[in-house]
Amino acid sequence: MKESYLIRIRGIVQGVGFRPFVYRLARQYGITGSVCNDGQGVLVRAEGNRSDLDRFIRDISGNPPPLARIEEVETSPAGYRGYSSFSVTGSKTGKEKNTFIPPDTRVCDQCLTEYQNTRDRRYRYPFITCTHCGPRFSIIRDIPYDRKNTTMAPFPLCNECHREYRDPLDRRFHTQPTACPRCGPRLSLADPQGHCLIRGDVPEIVSRVISDLDQGKIVALKGVGGYHLACDATNSRAVRRLRSRKKRPFKPFALMTGNLDSAARVVELGKRERELLESAQRPIVLLREKPNRILSPQVAPHLSHQGIMLPYSPFQFSLFEDNPLRFLVMTSANISDEPIIYSDREIFGKMGRVADLFVTYNRDIHTPSDDSVLFVVDEQSHFIRRSKGYVPVPFFSSPAPVDILATGADLKNTFGLAKDKFLIISQPTGDLQSPATQEEMLRSLDNFTTLFDLDPRVVVSDRHPGYFSTSIGRRLTRKGASWTRVYHHHAHIASVLEEHRSAGPVIGLAFDGTGYGADGHLWGGEFLVADTTGFQRAAHFSYFPLPGGEKAILEVYRIGLALLYQAYGENIPLPLSPRDRQIITLIRKDIHCPRCCSLGRIFDGISSLLGISRVITTEAEAAIRLEETAFKSSDQNRFFPIRYRPHPLPDADFLIETESLVQAIVGLIHDRVPLPVISYAFHQSLARLTGEICAELRKIHQINRVALSGGVFQNRLLLKQIIDQLQKKQFQVLTHRELPPNDGCIAHGQLAVAKAWWKKGILQP
Ligand code: ZN
Ligand code: ZN
Ligand code: FE
Repeated sequence: MKESYLIRIRGIVQGVGFRPFVYRLARQYGITGSVCNDGQGVLVRAEGNRSDLDRFIRDISGNPPPLARIEEVETSPAGYRGYSSFSVTGSKTGKEKNTFIPPDTRVCDQCLTEYQNTRDRRYRYPFITCTHCGPRFSIIRDIPYDRKNTTMAPFPLCNECHREYRDPLDRRFHTQPTACPRCGPRLSLADPQGHCLIRGDVPEIVSRVISDLDQGKIVALKGVGGYHLACDATNSRAVRRLRSRKKRPFKPFALMTGNLDSAARVVELGKRERELLESAQRPIVLLREKPNRILSPQVAPHLSHQGIMLPYSPFQFSLFEDNPLRFLVMTSANISDEPIIYSDREIFGKMGRVADLFVTYNRDIHTPSDDSVLFVVDEQSHFIRRSKGYVPVPFFSSPAPVDILATGADLKNTFGLAKDKFLIISQPTGDLQSPATQEEMLRSLDNFTTLFDLDPRVVVSDRHPGYFSTSIGRRLTRKGASWTRVYHHHAHIASVLEEHRSAGPVIGLAFDGTGYGADGHLWGGEFLVADTTGFQRAAHFSYFPLPGGEKAILEVYRIGLALLYQAYGENIPLPLSPRDRQIITLIRKDIHCPRCCSLGRIFDGISSLLGISRVITTEAEAAIRLEETAFKSSDQNRFFPIRYRPHPLPDADFLIETESLVQAIVGLIHDRVPLPVISYAFHQSLARLTGEICAELRKIHQINRVALSGGVFQNRLLLKQIIDQLQKKQFQVLTHRELPPNDGCIAHGQLAVAKAWWKKGILQP
């Protein structure tokens, strides 16, 4: 007795070889029927014996193709039609769109073997790809995911490629971006004026690029998410030249090397770190540097860690074939903090004076992205940037009643959308102060709106009145939709809660750069008692002035002076320059001195008091150097008490006396305690204070869970110390898992809050 079923599979199931996989299973079990893609995922009609059908369905969820991610399999009985065979049918374009678009991944081993095989027809063809690998998100313009909706549209398949494309048993069956040297895009080499030097001859281009790199030249390489700038990382002159041409004196450069063995020569590698380096996502992993004479100290000046990644595109692999031990700087091509350059029109205009040689190709990158960045503490990975390889993989969530758009924050802006049971967070575009970044963010928003068929009934933004992302949120709220705003640090903590699929309540540590607070001041040293619907400010650092506002973020000595003035008034016990006295005057007269209690800014200020940083060139540089100084400490037992007292306001619990921290630091400076020891003691004291305050708050609020978010938690030392302190006190500690603790998580947290408000009826259209 034959039975008939409809099987609906949702998740990342298109463009990842799902239909051929189902086809092969059907043949194996003697199932007849059909499989097709549609707006909701994959739909299978299957007829056969009960036991065969059971095994067929079990294997579909049990062992899917490598890039697939199944979220849901739904089976329902269907009318028996008596199919005689099993067939694969084309995509059905429905009105409804699928919420899943596969991310870009590394070239797979099978393709790589073909790429390196002189007798394969795709030998040295750098656009080799198959169902299991290669670019996706970066080249998809619209869905359904068909070739005509990708940037491969201008390249019609040749007969041979077409034969593979149509054969359900071929690895390239329905691989939309498949191509070969006869029909696909071509690589070319150009000079800084954009004149083509070599077209198509890849071995020739590879050898020319390697020889130029070996001579210390800078090469722009068009990659998957945009252009990289590459140079020899063992050649200090080359790296210094890149620094001066890019006007980037401090910010570390990422490295690429041939394999794990090569990486192990310069950095320490744990198990999790090796897995991440070799994963299909190919992120940059921050790794502790070993003493070595290989890397130029210019790659990551003053830092004890190196950001390393392994090759992911076929062309990148060829740069390491002759010598896997080669180390290349591989940094995003951009102007200071602007977005990565990905268009061929812009690269020569903007990087013509930076790179000596350009490797490019005639296929467009539709959606740009930078490489993702992670680090590992105690075998747990933490994101600094979630981008290429991960975006736009959705997060499973509770169902959203309507489409929601979150516009995020202005620094490291990501935006996000809630649709059905999924949250999708964009790649970060950068800092929205620059017009170029604003333009790219708007373009990216448009792109997501098309790709995910977004029709937002609720738009949610930050509370900051001056944020570009806030004004965009208001502008994008169409008639009949509602616009709502969430406090920055509430969003931080809500993001952690959402990641753990929890509604709270929780003690939320929002240790951050700055965010607009409920009293209009700049927050960022917050102990909140929060759930997804609301928060109460339980404890915070006492306010200090931020002389010059935004200016103080780079001129951190201003913060150092403000901390001193707050702690000592006119009797500052450290020598002051005439310039310092001018700043003190500004503070005394309260001229453009917004009030701030951010821990990120306290780190900057302490870094300047210790003489580690005075004026910085990139955000968080002073704090990073303070952490680096602490790593060198010979004494890890020293700490000092930081005072706190009952909060003067009725609904808050404690006020932490920032001045007591500053006085303790000045005391250590006067005692001539070595800088690394002071830096370490500073971290350790903050961690102890955090543990104590959480314990006090637990007594008051009966909450045993602590959630950690905010840019300060990118500090590995402090993160580890705080987790240790909290665990010692038997707290359950929640940290971010799949999102960064910095403002890249804000859109995600905004979505969580908006959904909670909707559910409670606080928010209505
Ligand atoms: Zn492949
Ligand atoms: Zn072809
Ligand atoms: Fe923040």
